[in-house]
Amino acid sequence: MKIISIIATLFLSLSILSAQPKVIAHRGHYINVEGSTENSITSLRKAQELNIYGAEFDVWMTLDGVLIVNHDDVIQGIMIQDVPYEKIKDLRLENGEILPTLEAYLQQGKQDRTTRLILELKPHSTKEREDRAVAAVVKMVEEMGVKDQTEYISFSLNICKELRARSPQAHVAYLGGDIAPNALKAMNIPGISYSIGALRNNMHWIKEAQDLGMTVNVWTLYTEVDMREMIDAGVDFITSGNSLLTIELLK
Ligand code: MG
Repeated sequence: MKIISIIATLFLSLSILSAQPKVIAHRGHYINVEGSTENSITSLRKAQELNIYGAEFDVWMTLDGVLIVNHDDVIQGIMIQDVPYEKIKDLRLENGEILPTLEAYLQQGKQDRTTRLILELKPHSTKEREDRAVAAVVKMVEEMGVKDQTEYISFSLNICKELRARSPQAHVAYLGGDIAPNALKAMNIPGISYSIGALRNNMHWIKEAQDLGMTVNVWTLYTEVDMREMIDAGVDFITSGNSLLTIELLK
């Protein structure tokens, strides 16, 4: 009897452990980190050192098809998708790094196979541009040998659908916050990645998504109050603006 109860306790604690959300560093690990800045190679390296689930980053494509890691559509006054790479290739980030290409970023990603690469492909101005960007991203991820390490997110439904069409095994989550899990599932999109505000408006979506076999991520959490609320709500992933705090709370 004693052994059975020990085993039962073990299983219970394992299931509680596995129910803990996993941590994704929003734009890498950079806040209060010396020499780091968002979406830099350093921010990815620093995230890799945290032993968390993954590092999130944002991707744009230049007019001539080069993939760039940057959050905003504009960098130093230049609209990335409207210029050839030549026009922006020498720009520097706040920490002095050259504006990273996706290729350079994935090269760093390969240095630690345990940190997943959460690639946000930004909505571009036309469907044609988005489709070209999806094709280029999927090709590069495959050529760089990080296919099994990469997951995708996007605010563009078109991008989500195209990613699944071009890379059927890839995990893709929609960011928009405005579509119920069952409707996304019907579109072959297997995850929701919604803001805390969107989830609060539809808390039942968390369980609904999970019951459908979908994943639930929440972005972007900075405070202990928000983190505790979402841990209790049972989300699968927290995209954190303060990874150290999230790690601490999950201990
Ligand atoms: Mg992002």
